[in-house]
Amino acid sequence: MTVLDSAIVRLLPAVPRPVVRRIADRYIAGETLDDALTVVRGLNAEGKSATIDVLGEEVTRPYEASDIVRAYHDVFEAIQEHRLDSNVSVKLTGLGLKLGYKLCRRNLRTVVEHAAEVDNFVRIDMEDSSTTDDTIRLYRELRESGLDNVGVVLQARLKRTPADIAALADLRPNIRLCKGIYLEPPAIAWTSFERIREAFVHCLELLVETASYIGIATHDEFLIAEGKRIALEPYEFQMLLGVREQLGDALVSGGERLRIYVPFGRQWYEYSLRRLHENPKIAGYIASDTLGRMFSRRNGRQ
Ligand SMILES: Cc1cc2nc3c(=O)[nH]c(=O)nc-3n(C[C@H](O)[C@H](O)[C@H](O)COP(=O)(O)OP(=O)(O)OC[C@H]3O[C@@H](n4cnc5c(N)ncnc54)[C@H](O)[C@@H]3O)c2cc1C
Repeated sequence: MTVLDSAIVRLLPAVPRPVVRRIADRYIAGETLDDALTVVRGLNAEGKSATIDVLGEEVTRPYEASDIVRAYHDVFEAIQEHRLDSNVSVKLTGLGLKLGYKLCRRNLRTVVEHAAEVDNFVRIDMEDSSTTDDTIRLYRELRESGLDNVGVVLQARLKRTPADIAALADLRPNIRLCKGIYLEPPAIAWTSFERIREAFVHCLELLVETASYIGIATHDEFLIAEGKRIALEPYEFQMLLGVREQLGDALVSGGERLRIYVPFGRQWYEYSLRRLHENPKIAGYIASDTLGRMFSRRNGRQ
C-alpha cells in the first residue's frame, strides 16, 4: 500500500456512506436474498460453489439476533428450492454472542439443526480475538452434541492458532484457514506480512494432519501455491466475492474446487469497510469516484 492509500484507509470512516457503498458494491451481492441467489446462480454456472453470509454483526437486542436466525432459515429454504451449490457462513456476534453465551448457543444450534434437516452446512466465521475462546467452545459443544455439519474458522495471524489446532484435533474438525482480518496487538498476533504468511503455511501443515476438511481462504498467490503443495484431499480454496476474480477463474480451470463468500443484507457498512481496508487500490477508487461525481454534477447529470 502506498502512503496515500494508507492515509485514505485511516480516513475511511469519514467518507460518506453512499460513496463507501458505491465503491464497495463489488464485494456485496445486494441487500436482498434474491440478490444473493442471483449471484450464487452465476457463480455455480462458472463451476464455483458459494457460502452465503447474512450481513449483521454486533446486534444489541435479542430480537435482532432472532431476525438473523430467521434470515438463515430463508436462505436454506431458497438454496434447497433453487438447487444451488451453497452453504452458509455465520458471525456469532450477529447471533447474539455479546448479549450472552447461552442466547448465542441457542441461536447457533437452531441454524445448524435447520441446516442438518436440509443437508446443508454452517461455517462459523471467526471475529476479533475477544470472541476466539467462545467461538471455539461453541464449535466443540455443537460437535460433541452430535452435529457434524458445522465448521469453524482459524486465523493464521493469531499466535495461539497452532495450539487451537492441536486442541481441536480429537474432533477431526472442518476448518477454514485465513490470515485474519482483525488487527490484533503484537502480544497475541503476528503483525508482519511475511510472518503471517509463514504462520499460514505452518498452520496448513498442522491441519493436514488433523482436520477432516480444509478451506484455504486466501487471494495470496504464494499461499495458493503452498496450498496446492501441502494440502491433501479433501480441501477447497475459498475467496471473497469481488476479489481477484481472474485468479479464482484460473483455479477453477486448473481443476481446483473454489467456494466464493457471498454476503448480502442491509447491514453492509462494517463488512464494506473491512474489504476497503484490504483493497490495495483504495486511493484510486475513491479518487475516481469523487472525480466522476464532480464531473457528472458539472454536466448537470446529478
Ligand atoms: C472465503 C473467506 C472467508 C474469510 N473469513 C474470515 C473470517 O472468518 N475471519 C477473518 O478474520 N477473516 C476472514 N477472511 C479474511 C482474511 O482473513 C483476509 O483478511 C483476507 O482474505 C485477505 O488476506 P489474503 O490471504 O487474501 O492476503 P492479502 O495479502 O491481504 O491479499 C492478497 C492479494 O489479494 C488482493 N486483495 C485482498 N483483499 C482485497 C480486496 N478487499 N480488494 C481488492 N483486492 C484484494 C490484493 O491484491 C492482495 O495483494 C476471509 C477470507 C476469505 C477469502
